[in-house]
Amino acid sequence: MDRSERVAVIGAGYVGAVTAAVLAHFGHTVVLAESDLHRFAQLASGKSPIVERDLEELLRAGLASGKLRVVNSARDAIPEADFVFLCVPTPQGDDGSADLSAVKVVVDEIGSLLVSHAVVVIKSTVPAGTSVLVTKMLERPDVTVVSNPEFLREGSAVADSLHPDRIVVGVDDPAVARRVAELFYATSAPLIVTSPMTSEMIKYAANAFLATKLSFINSIATLCDAAGADVRDLIVALGYDKRIGFDFLSPGPGWGGSCLPKDTAALVRIAESFDFDFAMLRAVVSQNDDHADRVVEKIRIAAGGSLERADVALWGLTFKANTDDRRDSPAVNIARRLATAGATLRAYDPTVTPGSAALDLEGVELFSSPYDACAGAQVVAILTEWDEFRNIDFYKVGELMTTPSIVDARNLLDPVALRAAGFAYSGIGRP
Ligand code: NAD
Repeated sequence: MDRSERVAVIGAGYVGAVTAAVLAHFGHTVVLAESDLHRFAQLASGKSPIVERDLEELLRAGLASGKLRVVNSARDAIPEADFVFLCVPTPQGDDGSADLSAVKVVVDEIGSLLVSHAVVVIKSTVPAGTSVLVTKMLERPDVTVVSNPEFLREGSAVADSLHPDRIVVGVDDPAVARRVAELFYATSAPLIVTSPMTSEMIKYAANAFLATKLSFINSIATLCDAAGADVRDLIVALGYDKRIGFDFLSPGPGWGGSCLPKDTAALVRIAESFDFDFAMLRAVVSQNDDHADRVVEKIRIAAGGSLERADVALWGLTFKANTDDRRDSPAVNIARRLATAGATLRAYDPTVTPGSAALDLEGVELFSSPYDACAGAQVVAILTEWDEFRNIDFYKVGELMTTPSIVDARNLLDPVALRAAGFAYSGIGRP
């Protein structure tokens, strides 16, 4: 039985490029629309526009088989699509709520072009009620709008999309729910069919819960620091409890990235719109802000008590390893705080090329190796958990630095070995 469908995906970022490549891999005929000319040109030449494991291979396979085509405007993707996935950004607006302007632009653009009985699938993270809003905007009674939130993790986005933990389809029409679920027939993921409103809430609840776990463990790590306890042993003991689990229990420099900060802020605003003060989530967010200050404080102490003109080397700038995404990166956030306090910053990240004009890194001198970045530094701060930092020659690093001191905000290294090599070592929640 041929289960191949005609699909358009609008927006070729971390979600759209992966969704398009995976749906083409499942055998569907996919047209991927990307309006950014640089990203479009990369895709058209078979290059992944983002650093994401296995994505380029999958995109190339799709382009080579003819199952995937790339265009540079939504209107060119729509005319033959029975399913249209919206994967455009929904960044944080000035008041904290999700900014839906990119979604609205696409809806305006495609409304009159959709084929009869098309299904518009909203994969972008949007507030409860957006499916209803899009339905009204489209003025197309023959078209159904479906919420299908995305849960992939950057760094393992392809694997997550090939083998999702679950698929959520939010639509009131069971026949349409079946059609959307069928697109993912190649996965054996549990399917949750629910109302659009519930589906939209599920995505925010998931991200708010993950942020809560991270703020919780960062707070426990702060307590461990104060008490002289070891958060790593504590996590092992917590993690074996099936009610708790190991995931999202690693202390670090604070949580960030393109989703958790904006989605927690948006959920606080959504709650306000229903006259509910989500005080717990507000506390989770403010804990994260305070936590960044605590990491900066560790760096200040490691620099001998003052950040004014202190030479600090930053290892890692992305919000986590195995991605090039620096949106709301805790590393960049900490770099800004250090710069404001007067520190001189030298940085290395495997995804950032020295000389690249990166606005978020103004005032940070970039280097192409961790060794070059730490030459002459008083402190090295490890801010992203890149594997390569585990295998560094620390004797060489110690010789390059003026005072060998490490703030390991990812708890990557062995303090005993580092102290034996002459370093002052400070982790997060560990002696
Ligand atoms: P992104 O910024 O990486 O990608 C969005 C792409 O859409 C950009 O390349 C942009 O140029 C393109 N675009 C914008 N308007 C367009 C238009 N009119 N026509 C064609 N292309 C257009 O964003 P992302 O990280 O992929 O996130 C997309 C959505 O998915 C957001 O709502 C986000 O919250 C959600 N989400 C993201 C992740 C993640 O890990 N990044 C995970 C789950 C959900």
